[in-house]
Amino acid sequence: MSYEHIEPPESGSKITLADEESGELDVPTDPIIPIIHGDGIGKDVGPAAQDVLTAAAEATGRDVNWMEVYAGETAREKYDENLPDETVEAIEEHRVAIKGPLTTPVGAGFRSLNVALRQTLDLYANVRPTYYLDGVPSPMKAPEEMDMVTFRENTEDVYAGIEWEAGTEEVEQVRDFVEDEMGFDDVMHDGPIGIGIKPISEKGSKRLVREAIDYAIENDRDKVTLVHKGNIMKFTEGQFGDWGMEVADEEYPDDEVFAAPDSLWEEQDEVDIPEDAVMVEERLADAMLQWMQLRTDEFDVLAMPNLNGDYLSDAAGAQIGGLGIAPGANFGFGRCLAEPVHGSAPKRAGQDKANPTALILSGRLMFEYLGWDDTGQLIRDAVEKTIDEGTVTYDLARQREDAEEVSTTEYAETVIDNIEKLS
Ligand code: NAP
Repeated sequence: MSYEHIEPPESGSKITLADEESGELDVPTDPIIPIIHGDGIGKDVGPAAQDVLTAAAEATGRDVNWMEVYAGETAREKYDENLPDETVEAIEEHRVAIKGPLTTPVGAGFRSLNVALRQTLDLYANVRPTYYLDGVPSPMKAPEEMDMVTFRENTEDVYAGIEWEAGTEEVEQVRDFVEDEMGFDDVMHDGPIGIGIKPISEKGSKRLVREAIDYAIENDRDKVTLVHKGNIMKFTEGQFGDWGMEVADEEYPDDEVFAAPDSLWEEQDEVDIPEDAVMVEERLADAMLQWMQLRTDEFDVLAMPNLNGDYLSDAAGAQIGGLGIAPGANFGFGRCLAEPVHGSAPKRAGQDKANPTALILSGRLMFEYLGWDDTGQLIRDAVEKTIDEGTVTYDLARQREDAEEVSTTEYAETVIDNIEKLS
């Protein structure tokens, strides 16, 4: 394929789909991987993280051929638009990519570039591993108990929500329909109201839960918890839980995946749980927010509709040290777009100050998606050694008296030194 502004690397091979049914990938040892450095602090953390990821891949016998693609500010400079078609096409064609943060342009009619990318590429699961690294300041007494991966549905629920503003003709039409045709007049107050609809589908729920269960199986996790508010929103959140349990019950052998019955917690002794099976259970979202703090080590993989995932994944991230270190990725069918949780932090942009750890660890998740678990482990170990030995960026330095504050570039160089020492 020829591009207008993208320069493909001189060498490297494409990642392709190996199996149309499962979405499994055929991954060469020299893949071409598109990268968007990002806006704001993306210009600092993007190149720094790229160097660390290159070094870790090389140290484990692989060769990443990066292909820089453009979105946000760099795209406006080159193409006079925010998200050029060839950027989306390049990511679509190469299946696995990584991006730094993009600023959402302010002004009417601008969609978030991040949301546009996720929707265009149908990246239906937002995945955030939340684990503790030694040396990271945390507000918790035992932050090391956190080792969880959240799967947040990325395309529906409130992301596909429709709302009508109080006082408009449309909201009155909807009110009339709900009251007169559907017979719900007793719950509608008189006077102005706002109304919203949140759709949750069988397809969206099942593919998200399937992705979480497959992840649990492949990564030797014990449990997948479906988190919803089905006691109140029975036909959206509750249905998410039902469809999720159906996936667990019907699509996997019992000795591989065990769908926990509702009665499990009362009759635990009488239920025969296969020893090596991944257990799939349901929990209510409000209780889950408490348990995540009080019984952190009991949870493993969580799968949730969009809005619950928004709250829970941010709360989980705060427990292990916050935005500078929180990685993420968006998974689709045989697709992965890795990106940190944080945004472009304009206040810190261009100062060679921001923490590149979140983007580096997003790269770790991307490499694990490719099956490069050894590369991923090396990255984690090198980052942890760097932070634990007291070489940190400003955000962690201000919370630690024993640490030395270094720039983004110096931090990345220390991580690369540690990759060399550990490999
Ligand atoms: P933000 O960019 O995440 O930054 C908020 C604050 O978090 C920063 O000022 C900084 O705090 C801290 N922070 C974030 N990343 C850090 C890092 N790598 N190292 C050190 N500190 C870090 O959130 P925002 O200011 O609300 O959003 C700015 C823009 O980013 C908006 O246009 C938003 O739409 C966009 N955004 C994009 C994405 C994405 O691309 N996926 C995600 C979220 C937001 P201190 O200044 O206190 O140190």
